[in-house]
Amino acid sequence: MDNKFPGKDISIEDLKTKFPLAAKKNKNHKSKFKIAGVEFGGNTIPVFAGPNMVESKKLILDVAKNVKSSGAHFLRGGAFKPLTFPYRNKKYNETREDGIKWLAEAKDKYNIPVITEIMEEKYLDLVCDVADILQIGSRNMQNYPLITACAKTKKPIMIKRHYGSSLRDWLGAAEYVLIEGNKKVILCERGVSVPHTHRSTSRFLLDLQVVPAAQEVTHLPIIVDPSHATFWRQWVRPMALASIASGADGVMLEVHPDPHNSAVDPLQPIDFKEFRNLMKEMNIISNQISKRRIL
Ligand code: PEP
Ligand code: MN
Repeated sequence: MDNKFPGKDISIEDLKTKFPLAAKKNKNHKSKFKIAGVEFGGNTIPVFAGPNMVESKKLILDVAKNVKSSGAHFLRGGAFKPLTFPYRNKKYNETREDGIKWLAEAKDKYNIPVITEIMEEKYLDLVCDVADILQIGSRNMQNYPLITACAKTKKPIMIKRHYGSSLRDWLGAAEYVLIEGNKKVILCERGVSVPHTHRSTSRFLLDLQVVPAAQEVTHLPIIVDPSHATFWRQWVRPMALASIASGADGVMLEVHPDPHNSAVDPLQPIDFKEFRNLMKEMNIISNQISKRRIL
């Protein structure tokens, strides 16, 4: 565990002084907690599934129904989105308050809990009304005032790793939640920036090595998002299976009824049928390697 070169990676000293709450107390220390009745860090491997963006009421109801029937534990989807460029059109437009309302309808109608992104503190009350988990997006991983405000609500929080951040920085962000007395923190790996991603359309590389690396030093559950990491739907299935094999405590997948026509990032979602099959395959792998289950 020790690292002779602190500054880039994690030293024993860091575990005691920089993130004592996120650090494991002993070799077998692993956080277990329930969110909306679903256990994290235990024998279940929760799956979060849904579109990139809550595009319309029809879309989110359709997705909620389908992913729930395939065994997804949580519905994902952004109503507030950190879109990389400021230009918008009719299709490429955040649905904001409307999106939150539609998420609430989907949650009630299909009895599936919701994870959605929060970008600004002023929308906390609105987003907390529907969210079972608040998602801190990669781009806000070091927005400490936002993280602290979210932590104070006592809602479970998932922190996506920034694509340029070290495990050390990421655990620092988690510590900002834990220090507020909020223990329900989930880490989510979503790909890092590297010189070679093997396709011009793939912006990131999935860092699966961070799963065992994180588990060496922290008791917090770590989940993997192969959709944002690969940015290429053909690679989502192999990387989702590899995520389970790596020991991940959960998986987040982008699922859309008509992936080519997704309003945001149309190269990465999988469709309903692919999702249904993938759930079965991930379940087989988790049963085989760790006696954990997805379905
Ligand atoms: C998302 O999950 O919708 C998202 C925007 O992801 P990230 O913050 O990892 O880019
Ligand atoms: Mn996205």
